[in-house]
Amino acid sequence: MADVDDFFRLREYDSLMREVDRLRQGIAQESERLSRRKSELSDRIELLNSRESQFRQFNHQIAELDRRLAQHLSPEAQSKLEEEGLKLLAEQEEISQLISEDQVFIQGYSKTVQELESEILAEIQSSEALIAQTLKRAESVYATLPTEWHAQYQRILAKKPAHGVFSRIENLKCQFCRYTISKVLESEVDVGLQLKGCPGCGRLLLPYKTVAG
Ligand SMILES: [Zn+2]
Repeated sequence: MADVDDFFRLREYDSLMREVDRLRQGIAQESERLSRRKSELSDRIELLNSRESQFRQFNHQIAELDRRLAQHLSPEAQSKLEEEGLKLLAEQEEISQLISEDQVFIQGYSKTVQELESEILAEIQSSEALIAQTLKRAESVYATLPTEWHAQYQRILAKKPAHGVFSRIENLKCQFCRYTISKVLESEVDVGLQLKGCPGCGRLLLPYKTVAG
């Protein structure tokens, strides 16, 4: 027969596993944060590349214009080309300005991302160590539980009930879903110390002795 300590250990196991979940979520969030920053950086590098290629295109266009200006042209044609040339130079100057801004941004941001990466990798490493340690502890607690409880616990856990897998009986109702609990079930839980699920929500009903106080 199970005793009160089994219930304490079941709760301990459950809270250890929730801690593992929390740590894993933390790792996923941090990895996501890092990859967002990295993709911002690579977007900006891509933008810089496309501006540099625009800049080179302007060079070609200006060189082509100069070639045409060197030919014998009518004064109107010549002034029209000169006007076009000035326009091209102004546009190229604008691009050049943007390129310098990109370069300054990329330089600073690369450094930021690098620092963030080493920070996050260190955090992940320590979380992973903590996960391994917590799992080891959880495993040893799990092994001491009545074996028939294992499947029962896993079944309710798989449903991922909001606010956890446990409930308690309060005035012959499930504290969580308010389902009416029979006196027979109440005594199986409180006196018999059996692990039973609430017929309403399936959460495991903790005996009075393990939750009082
Ligand atoms: Zn319930």
